[in-house]
Amino acid sequence: MAYVLDDFMAKVVAKNAGELEFHQAVHEVVESVIPFIEENPKYEHGRILERVVEPERVLMFRVPWLDDTGDIQVNRGFRIEMNSAIGPYKGGLRFHPTVNLGILKFLAFEQVFKNSLTTLPMGGGKGGSDFDPKGKSDNEVMKFCQSFMLELSRHIGPNTDVPAGDIGVGGREIGFLFGMYKRIRNEFTGVLTGKDLNWGGSLIRPEATGYGTVYFAENMLNFKGDSIKGKTCVVSGSGNVAQYTIEKVNDLGGKCVTLSDSGGYIYDPEGIDAEKLAYVMHLKNVKRGRIKEYADKYGVEYFAGQRPWGVKCDVAFPSATQNEINEDKAKLLIANGCFVVAEGANMPSVPEAIEVYLKNKILYGPAKAANAGGVAVSGLEMSQNSLRLSWTREEVDERLFNIMKSIHETCVKYGKESDDYVNYVDGANIGGFVKIADSMLAQGVV
Ligand code: NDP
Repeated sequence: MAYVLDDFMAKVVAKNAGELEFHQAVHEVVESVIPFIEENPKYEHGRILERVVEPERVLMFRVPWLDDTGDIQVNRGFRIEMNSAIGPYKGGLRFHPTVNLGILKFLAFEQVFKNSLTTLPMGGGKGGSDFDPKGKSDNEVMKFCQSFMLELSRHIGPNTDVPAGDIGVGGREIGFLFGMYKRIRNEFTGVLTGKDLNWGGSLIRPEATGYGTVYFAENMLNFKGDSIKGKTCVVSGSGNVAQYTIEKVNDLGGKCVTLSDSGGYIYDPEGIDAEKLAYVMHLKNVKRGRIKEYADKYGVEYFAGQRPWGVKCDVAFPSATQNEINEDKAKLLIANGCFVVAEGANMPSVPEAIEVYLKNKILYGPAKAANAGGVAVSGLEMSQNSLRLSWTREEVDERLFNIMKSIHETCVKYGKESDDYVNYVDGANIGGFVKIADSMLAQGVV
């Protein structure tokens, strides 16, 4: 009996009511893999699809903490341990007021396939809290992180579950979380990635997601005999992923002309060069200011409350958050000449936007392939921690480059269509699925 997409999704929706982003992420994967499963019925007999959409474990907990006025605040903490077929759960923590169970389940689900694509032995997980670090003092962020870790520490470990950063969780937060874990457990281990270099971090980890996304775009372009050199790029967001995307585009001879945050976007037609990027890094990572200040400093235009998808470009790097490109914006991008979309953010394009990309046969690198560089270098950080060694910057960057190349090859292998167009959505979904599914079959009904 073959799977019917709508019937399968109806069960997922009924079982996970109201978790819209999770439904969206599952639909995208299942749509790609059903035809593949029809050709390989062992996966249906093993009920891999039914198993893979059900998290192995969901943890949800209270996070009480004292703010600077002495008042008690209460947030909700989560960790989704989605799939451990090929390694310990691995995936970031997100601190953002929009965080809820459905968003973290979508991220954990995507992470399973992404981690599989990296070729490294990592299962999939994700976690976080509805805590908003914006506007909080360092002291408040520390108190929150300590309370969060007090509970999370029971469930994680270097061979069990290894969290990292995501939106709202950068070097500062990883430091507070690591310090508390070490104190509670009285052990110094690689339980988190994204650590500072002085205490077990890896070179290139901060850069990895942005660099990797640009490497993936370069691979897609090279496959067509083209390259980033000379291309005009539009970038959304102005956090970790956006910053290092711009750095690598500049390295490869392209030009980025936009940056955004939740307030709006700036358009700098001259391009965001190394000096301007250093200003952005200070503004966002130290001063924790708003992107509008860039427009004031450099005398460029600022568009309040808008996203940058109407700006003319060759390449788009959505690097802020989920569902930031809708169908109309996808059409607008293509009408303005954009022919490459490489997703630094997770699921930034709604399903209708993806349909527009595929219909127009542009080079579309979906998140689970294009932004896998971050978790790949997290995997390399875990390896270095286990070996108690640190690799050089060049060594890590070369490994990252080769992993992105191998992910591209996997996508081509599973996604090339009869007219030679590479459907990277199918390529990434099927390529990620095979390794997980085979491992689950080998391990029996567990
Ligand atoms: P940061 O917190 O460093 O930056 C996030 C940026 O996106 C900020 O500029 C933020 O603006 C903006 N943003 C966040 N939410 C919204 C929203 N709802 N609407 C508009 N803008 C928003 O996060 P990262 O750069 O680490 O993450 C960005 C994306 O990349 C996420 O989708 C994340 O899941 C994905 N990703 C990150 C990885 C990593 O290694 N860090 C790995 C793989 C994927 P503001 O400050 O105003 O909120």
